[in-house]
Amino acid sequence: MRKTLYIIGLSTLVFSCTSQKNVKKNTYRPKTTAAQPKTAVNSQNFEKNKPEVATEHGVEFFRTNIADITKNDNTISYGSIVSAKPAGYKVVKTHFPAVAQNFRQKYLILHYTVLPDDKSVEVLTQQSVSAHYLVNNLGDNEIYQLVDENKRSYHAGISAWRSDKNLNDTSIGIEIVNMGYKADASGMKVFQPFSDEQIKKVAALAKDIVTRYNIPATNVLAHSDIAPTRKQDPGPLFPWKKLYDEYQIGMWYDEMAKQNFLTLAQTDIETRYNEPSFIFVVQTALQKFGYDILPNGKWDDVTKKTVEALQYHFRPQNYSGVLDAETWAILQSLNQKYPTK
Ligand SMILES: [Zn+2]
Repeated sequence: MRKTLYIIGLSTLVFSCTSQKNVKKNTYRPKTTAAQPKTAVNSQNFEKNKPEVATEHGVEFFRTNIADITKNDNTISYGSIVSAKPAGYKVVKTHFPAVAQNFRQKYLILHYTVLPDDKSVEVLTQQSVSAHYLVNNLGDNEIYQLVDENKRSYHAGISAWRSDKNLNDTSIGIEIVNMGYKADASGMKVFQPFSDEQIKKVAALAKDIVTRYNIPATNVLAHSDIAPTRKQDPGPLFPWKKLYDEYQIGMWYDEMAKQNFLTLAQTDIETRYNEPSFIFVVQTALQKFGYDILPNGKWDDVTKKTVEALQYHFRPQNYSGVLDAETWAILQSLNQKYPTK
């Protein structure tokens, strides 16, 4: 919800043409190989397995979501089909759809607005920032859609997770009406809680989105995860554990694994805390988990804010940004459970 989003939203459109290696078999793929030339039978199979297309008011739609839910690749987008209408020519779908394609939607990013309900609608629809969905705080049963899921909305700004950058290109953004935080007398950030109604809405919406696009748990993230030096939202009062426990959405560590790491983590914190080699190991673990951080062996501001982002998400009782034994044990158990492929 800041002006930097505007710049990114308008300036960066990254085209990628590199993901051809993951072309895999799925339900509608024609059964042709180099050694087996195309035959009439294969053509029939292709026709039989083609997804059904319906037309309503001149707009074509896939009837069903035919994505292979075991993997988020090699799938057909579900919803309306956008086609060119070149003057004097006819676009035909005789050879439609190609096998090699996937969803644009790889991430689900959660935010809070730092604005009340009416102002949130106004800013997210009339100004230079937006989100695909807005969850109000009115206690009703409505969720506002502001942007087509197939289009980019301007919610993430400068952002990165694992090998991906500029996540506006590849994400669905949900904004939640919430006033964020105020600093108390000691400078500590005090956050506003979310209502139960809001959390139920967010959970139902998130569940629907991650299911349809088969978004992996590692890609359901806070704005603070993908932009830790700039952002705190949706903050430590957003109940990530509840979403994980009750709706199977997103990541959470295993308590047993955390306990197993804890003893050694306590020793690390007590004996090596300021050693550059230890700080380097911690920074490497943060980077491996997904945060955009370059290990340098120093407890610098970037590292502090990145630890704080990890704490907002996974250890919300204390989000000082200082690495303690529990935070260190949680980070290691997360890396064990969700390794980078
Ligand atoms: Zn945000």
